[in-house]
Amino acid sequence: ARFPVRRIFCVGRNYAAHAAEMGNEVDREAPFYFLKSAHHVLFADGGEVPVPPRTDNYHHEIELVAALDKGGSGIAVADALDHVFGYAVGLDMTRRDLQQDSKDKRRSWDTSKDFEFSGLCSALCSPGKGARPDQGAITLHVNGTLQQSGDLADQVWSLAEIIAELSALYRLEAGDVIFTGTPSGVGPAAPHVATPAAGARMQSCAWYGAAAVALLGWWLLDVQAMMPRARLRREEGGAQ
Ligand code: MG
Repeated sequence: ARFPVRRIFCVGRNYAAHAAEMGNEVDREAPFYFLKSAHHVLFADGGEVPVPPRTDNYHHEIELVAALDKGGSGIAVADALDHVFGYAVGLDMTRRDLQQDSKDKRRSWDTSKDFEFSGLCSALCSPGKGARPDQGAITLHVNGTLQQSGDLADQVWSLAEIIAELSALYRLEAGDVIFTGTPSGVGPAAPHVATPAAGARMQSCAWYGAAAVALLGWWLLDVQAMMPRARLRREEGGAQ
């Protein structure tokens, strides 16, 4: 089954520890958003994707992703989760060097956040009865080392609050997808290789990440840099 993606909303600075590591403070008055193009996001339990060009600092950001099958305006927090069709373990892939340059020049984040395969997601699934998207571990291992670790309870804005807030900015529709922000520990998805900017290309050995949102299970992500590709696949029974 395929989920027809309409829009991709991404939440910035939803974990205080990640905001701090990027040198920012969380604005508790309102969440901060950016968008990705619908065709730049992949939901799959397998497949191969290229590592993007023009970056020497290609970063992972593990996030809980929610897909809506009901829309509306002015959605109440109490009703918000009724609009969720399913969840995914997602990676908000980022050209961190381009993002820093955009921040320095006060320009948009489009080229650093919205490129082909910049949203890598597991297949959508429904957590078991009673599972809540506002608590539980969210972790990412890189080459066997725990790199990102947080708890959904640490989110500044819960998913229900984000849906309610977004529905005040937009008329939400079925097909809208939300990346809910990343905990601290973001880092390069491939070893940094110093190469000339022109024609620079990811090199050297592969890395793998084991991505998990406790309520959804583990997924493995492999990035092969010599032949740039990534695979996101379900790992039954836990990866670490
Ligand atoms: Mg993010």
